[in-house]
Amino acid sequence: GTGSAPPAFLDAIRAACEALIAAEDALTAMDQKVGDGDIGRSLAQGAEQILKSMEGFAKRSPKAVLMAISEIVRRSVGGTSGPLYAAFALGAANALTDDFCASEQLSAAFENGVRSVSALGGAQEGDRTMVDALVPAVRAIRAASSAPAGLLAAAVAARRGAAATAHMAPRRGRSSYLGARVLGHVDPGAEAVAIWLAAVAGQTSA
Ligand code: ADP
Ligand code: MG
Ligand code: MG
Repeated sequence: GTGSAPPAFLDAIRAACEALIAAEDALTAMDQKVGDGDIGRSLAQGAEQILKSMEGFAKRSPKAVLMAISEIVRRSVGGTSGPLYAAFALGAANALTDDFCASEQLSAAFENGVRSVSALGGAQEGDRTMVDALVPAVRAIRAASSAPAGLLAAAVAARRGAAATAHMAPRRGRSSYLGARVLGHVDPGAEAVAIWLAAVAGQTSA
């Protein structure tokens, strides 16, 4: 069937978007230190476009919603984040069947989304990218016994992973051109993951 998206799924997406919009200035400041300063605007722009489409999502399956989000992100998000988040959403969608059951498919979807980011960008843990927040989050979700518990643990793991990037030498993206100058600063892409996952977790457990 093409079951409609559960309200909790749409609420989680809305919360993630609102959190990224609220974090625009903070993310901009971070990317100004270790990159080119565009990540705050890029992610807020994508989030705004997704929020504009929310009404149409209610009658579609989570798989279809994630595919639509991938397309919106691909069209509206610039920089390195654009293709990587488009790949994340498409990878997550591809792991879902149309009759979504959050507790059973959340882990597979998140895992395949992260796998797609690594496949496209080539980054591994320790390279100082969003992967350093995403991969620990995957491990936390996989280990949890329920979807809400998994998302809470994932948010904690992503926050810890993002903090750890401050001590990592940059091996991917713009920061790699700056070398040791970025040490002491958290990677903005990893921070963005920690921000939207915290919003998703807060929504789910509310
Ligand atoms: P740009 O450098 O093109 O302006 P953004 O500002 O949109 O890119 O995003 C920068 C973030 O992208 C970095 O902080 C990092 O987390 C992430 N990133 C950069 N290169 C890669 C990569 N190859 N794989 C995964 N993430 C990456
Ligand atoms: Mg940038
Ligand atoms: Mg850029």
